[in-house]
Amino acid sequence: MKIAVVGTGYVGLVTGTCFAETGNDVVCVDIDESKIDKLTNGQVTIYEPGLEKLFLRNLREDRLSFTTSLEEGIREAAIIFLALPTPQGEDGSADLKYVLSVAEHLGRIMKEYKIIVDKSTVPVGTAEKVHNAIADNYNGEFDVVSNPEFLREGVAVDDFMKPDRVVIGTNSDRARKLLNDLYSPFVRQGNPIIFMDERSAELTKYAANSFLATKISFMNEIAQLCERIGADVDMVRRGIGGDERIGRRFLFPGIGYGGSCFPKDVKAMLKSAADEGYDFKILHAVESVIQLQKSVLVEKMQAHFGDLKGRTIALWGLAFKPKTDDMREAPAISITEKLLSMGARVCAYDPEAMETARRVFGDRICYCNHSYDALDGADALAVVTEWNEFREPDFKRIKQLLKSPVIFDGRNIYSPEMMRGLGLQYFSIGR
Ligand code: NAD
Repeated sequence: MKIAVVGTGYVGLVTGTCFAETGNDVVCVDIDESKIDKLTNGQVTIYEPGLEKLFLRNLREDRLSFTTSLEEGIREAAIIFLALPTPQGEDGSADLKYVLSVAEHLGRIMKEYKIIVDKSTVPVGTAEKVHNAIADNYNGEFDVVSNPEFLREGVAVDDFMKPDRVVIGTNSDRARKLLNDLYSPFVRQGNPIIFMDERSAELTKYAANSFLATKISFMNEIAQLCERIGADVDMVRRGIGGDERIGRRFLFPGIGYGGSCFPKDVKAMLKSAADEGYDFKILHAVESVIQLQKSVLVEKMQAHFGDLKGRTIALWGLAFKPKTDDMREAPAISITEKLLSMGARVCAYDPEAMETARRVFGDRICYCNHSYDALDGADALAVVTEWNEFREPDFKRIKQLLKSPVIFDGRNIYSPEMMRGLGLQYFSIGR
């Protein structure tokens, strides 16, 4: 099949590459010229495990190409995926300006039947808006489909190649047939392609992210309670996770969720509900817990040191989660900003997000080439992202390098008993 993907970021590049991998001809479109230049020249623009190999293979086989021209990109495509940003608008709603301006542009250049697929996370009713924006300038046949994306950064290629489910919102038999054919190679193990109407598909994505954010905030509240009543959140987590109705995954407390999705999607869900005159009570609580949780690590540092002015804190991890270079809404940003505002100095290391961090902080923090370099002369180590390489470090070396042997662990990756045994002062979450 001939496919166009408009927006070649985390979702678009993975989508385009994976569709090429199953034999389709894919053209990826982006307005960012330097991104398209790099991709055309074989340079992957994001860090995502497993992506480079697939990308290079499909580029070499001419199944994957890149352009800044929407017209050129969609000319031969039967299906056009929109993987465009839907950032948070001023009132909390998802800003649809990127999606609708591309839709309007498509209306001006389409010449034959095409299927336009919303892969961006968009509020209920967007498929209709996209339809209208196209129909304003084009009176031929076309279908607009909602196909929300559930991939997770860090495991995006695996998630795309083997999705738990594919959700497709459409009432068109023609679109249903083509999308079923396109996705069939990805669900050979029997995972479902779930067809539904557009509005239900749009809501499914927000419901999924809001539910996951609720799980995280719930565990963070359990952790707060554990600290106050002397229980261990790790034990409680394992105790409840054995119940199949609860499940073992996504029960880890920490320093709040970040990333490009949960924060904006929870806010957009709240706004959508409010627009319908419904007060989504649980999500207000989820939001306020996350705001509190973002401060806990710095509060623990203040409780330990008193004034943080003049202290140097070594940060391990900047990306919002491991295996990505993405720092959108990362807890490392709010922690660093708080520390800097209190007069502390921050020395940071992340295996993949150093370049991103330079764009975020400029010269306000110091960047280290190695995890241990960050510790040299620092007053404490703060673990912010649970990269595998931080899980079993040389604790003797950590102790030698730090000015005082203190670790603030925002991800509970070390054992409190072991830290005690090594003579390290250790503060974690809910234990
Ligand atoms: P991104 O910012 O990484 O990528 C968006 C791309 O669109 C950028 O490269 C940008 O240059 C390009 N773009 C902007 N305007 C354009 C235009 N007019 N024409 C062509 N290209 C244009 O965003 P992302 O993380 O890939 O997210 C895209 C959508 O997918 C969002 O709605 C997001 O909520 C959703 N989503 C993201 C994830 C994730 O993990 N990142 C997962 C599921 C869903």
